[in-house]
Amino acid sequence: MAFAITQSCCVDASCVSACPVNCIHPAPGEPDFGSTDMLFVDPRACIDCGACAEVCPVDAVFPVEELVGPLRDYAEVNAGYYAGRDVPTALAGSPLFHAWDPVRFDRVLPADFPRLDVAVVGSGPAAMYAVEDLLLHTTAHVTIIDRLTEPGGLVRFGVAPDHASTKKVGEHFARYHAHHRVKLRLGVEVGRDVTADELARRYDAVIYAVGAAESRDLGIPGEDLRGNLASTTVVGWYNGHPEIPADAVDLSGPRVVVVGTGNVSLDIARVLAADPSALSGVAPGALAALRGSAVREVVVLGRRGPRDAAWTRGELLGLLRRDDLEVVVDDHDPRVADEIAGADTAGTASLLRDVPLLSEAGEPSRRRVVLRFHAALEDIVGTDHVTGVRLVGGDVVEAGVVVRAIGHRGRPVPGLPFDPSSGTVPHVQGRVQDRPGTYVVGWIKRGASGGIGANRADAAETVASLIADGATGVLGDGASRNPVTRVLGRLTRR
Ligand SMILES: Cc1cc2nc3c(=O)[nH]c(=O)nc-3n(C[C@H](O)[C@H](O)[C@H](O)COP(=O)(O)OP(=O)(O)OC[C@H]3O[C@@H](n4cnc5c(N)ncnc54)[C@H](O)[C@@H]3O)c2cc1C
Repeated sequence: MAFAITQSCCVDASCVSACPVNCIHPAPGEPDFGSTDMLFVDPRACIDCGACAEVCPVDAVFPVEELVGPLRDYAEVNAGYYAGRDVPTALAGSPLFHAWDPVRFDRVLPADFPRLDVAVVGSGPAAMYAVEDLLLHTTAHVTIIDRLTEPGGLVRFGVAPDHASTKKVGEHFARYHAHHRVKLRLGVEVGRDVTADELARRYDAVIYAVGAAESRDLGIPGEDLRGNLASTTVVGWYNGHPEIPADAVDLSGPRVVVVGTGNVSLDIARVLAADPSALSGVAPGALAALRGSAVREVVVLGRRGPRDAAWTRGELLGLLRRDDLEVVVDDHDPRVADEIAGADTAGTASLLRDVPLLSEAGEPSRRRVVLRFHAALEDIVGTDHVTGVRLVGGDVVEAGVVVRAIGHRGRPVPGLPFDPSSGTVPHVQGRVQDRPGTYVVGWIKRGASGGIGANRADAAETVASLIADGATGVLGDGASRNPVTRVLGRLTRR
């Protein structure tokens, strides 16, 4: 028997550190670690101790014989990673050793360092991995500031509500909200309620973890039409984001078009097409709208072919294994069937081999998700409201709502430098250019890519820079406090 890692893996590698026989890969430092969607247990080396399942923040690890329903495939997915691969295993003689997380004494501040006060702006994964690192490696006092009145960033308002195990990572982060060296200041926006300069004066160091809140535009005519929605609107709507009303998504038409082939497109397609009673966690207003929805079909459009789709294996499998909706592949374009047939088994396109083609599928008995590839957009059609999208080549796909899910980009923070081409704050190893004592982490630092766990190593880099600066006298000693404390105190809603 062995354990297996499943769909909600967040790649933060907590399991790698916990495994006593080094049987989880790719591990930090190994070539695939930066690009992998998930980690895999080597069934040949697993000793079935369960340490990985114990520490997993997103409940993604199970004994193989307990895998049921859509998770059944993951025994094979885990074993498949090791087929023909030469990785260190316990059997290869590397038990009880991890190159990951070595003790690094250079990350500890001098014992006589007076007191380090750090503000962390944002409360999403990047902020919380940084907070965790600061609390575990320094005696710093940390003030977490977030513009919203509920903490969590995209874990709370982005991750799909029916991905309950992924959402669980929020509980891991929330443990630190009540830490005796932490203050939580919610409903405080930097740039509106307090300036970057004020924070820089008040705190020895400020870490910005403000994410990438903008949905990318398509840059085509018709984007100003009503019914053309950013993915952030739809995702915020089904997650109960306080700034998005319950009627933000009009479901009175039979078809919705979702543009983009990433995991967010699949989340949106799944939520709009699934039986609402099978969806856990959806915000009450959105759930009521989904119950009354007239939508019969969600068409997901990809500019390129099936092999270029950015969605991950886990997300695609999760959609294909549902029995409350149908998935078909649109084969208007003759290249699509061939590309799927010839796809590498390691890629996600090979998973589409058993999916019916639209030309062969009968009348749908349930709601349907149509995956259409080689479908670049010419413009969005309509007079004042969207009626559809025109594809390059002239085909029109009629739809009452168009959702653009082609990625995110950061917003400038007033008072900080900003690179508009990448949508990030320029930095070197997390240190903001020309702003000693100011740091960035997460999506505002490296751009909008990577799952929750990718922010852990990113936070380790930023906190290492901060600690090094503390040790070399770059940071203040807490002597120059100013009344911004009172501003933050007054604005605290929790
Ligand atoms: C729709 C969606 C679904 C996703 N689902 C998954 C998933 O299932 N699994 C997975 O591993 N990864 C998922 N991801 C990726 C994951 O959410 C990101 O890796 C992660 O959230 C990035 O963390 P962050 O802390 O940089 O940004 P965020 O999580 O966006 O946090 C930024 C925080 O900063 C706050 N903030 C912004 N500006 C200010 C300001 N001026 N003042 C004060 N506060 C401010 C915001 O309110 C927010 O709380 C998803 C991403 C998206 C977009």
